[in-house]
Amino acid sequence: MKMLASESEFRVKVAVRVRPFLPREKTHEQKSCIAIHPQTNQIVLGDRRTFKYDFILGPKTLQEELYRTSVEPMLNNVFDGYNVTIFAYGQTGSGKTYTMTGGNILSIGEKDYGIIPRAVKTIFNTIQNRPDCRITISASYLEIYKDDIIDLLDVNDKDIDVRDDAAGNTVVIGASEHRCDSIDDVVSLLKKGSNVRHTGATHMNDESSRSHAIFTLYIEQRLHDKNPNTNTVQASFDALVKPLQTTFDESYLSAKLHFVDLAGSERVARTQNTGERFQESIRINSGLLALGNVVSALSDPKKRTGGHIPYRDSKITRLLKDSLGGNAKTLMITCVSPCTADLDESLNALKYAQRASQIRNKPIKNID
Ligand code: ADP
Repeated sequence: MKMLASESEFRVKVAVRVRPFLPREKTHEQKSCIAIHPQTNQIVLGDRRTFKYDFILGPKTLQEELYRTSVEPMLNNVFDGYNVTIFAYGQTGSGKTYTMTGGNILSIGEKDYGIIPRAVKTIFNTIQNRPDCRITISASYLEIYKDDIIDLLDVNDKDIDVRDDAAGNTVVIGASEHRCDSIDDVVSLLKKGSNVRHTGATHMNDESSRSHAIFTLYIEQRLHDKNPNTNTVQASFDALVKPLQTTFDESYLSAKLHFVDLAGSERVARTQNTGERFQESIRINSGLLALGNVVSALSDPKKRTGGHIPYRDSKITRLLKDSLGGNAKTLMITCVSPCTADLDESLNALKYAQRASQIRNKPIKNID
């Protein structure tokens, strides 16, 4: 049974991943503007600014290592009925998509798989080891673009809306949800949606996306009924009773696992966009701003205006309302570039992550 905790217990875990220099950045000798201190989980930007986070992952960190240290330990929460959200945050080109999916999911091999395909594997392995339960998995893949919600798995023009149900759960009306019986089922949905995902060329990176992408797994567990006489009516029981059941029924648990590839965090001026693109950049930044405000308000009651958490300020925070705060578990993976040219954007990203984590930073004296 899920217990409701006070929202003041909410804390986002934060991982910072520094990507390696890319081949095009190696044209002249470069020294990283970021020093990493894994023993103390500290990072030094330039020669002065020190930050501390839950996990610090350097440029040589493999996909497997990032997954094992920061993501895998969170997944048990899903089987205990808690909603879990994993964000990738950072400027365009800092490694968010690489971290989430592994890059172009249509062509990469398993070694390069990012956290989504790895988490899917862990979840299906866990299901195999739980004969006491009947667990069903379904998935949705949505994009928030210019404050519209787009269904990446069913591109027919339709209105998608977000509401709260009577039990306080967030319900996305009009979005498709697809039953997945195997890892392959999930990966093919991921491929289909990634292919459709709206991307637009910006001045900074042709592959960049100015939208937020939310891949969600819905995990429903029902303890097997040990009485064989009731099994024959199980199917009709499911159809009738399931919509009425809540998480307080001990034989039934449901949870959502969201993977959110956030839009690039760079400032509008940096993208040198004009007209239509400029408008898009402003909207993206307002979504990230709203998310930062929600996380701040959740972490610190003093930051709540009128006692409220400002979920309603953007589509992304409305959509994630029941998965941010309370007992929900949240990991923000902040991706940063090692380049001196990106120092300002990296500083902004690290400050955003610091605000999310509420970890107090103490300067370190001796930097090796
Ligand atoms: P974003 O999604 O933030 O715009 P990408 O994930 O597309 O950034 O990364 C930009 C480029 O950097 C891609 O070519 C990607 O393969 C590469 N890259 C990012 N992070 C890493 C990493 N940790 N190791 C190797 N290559 C990386």
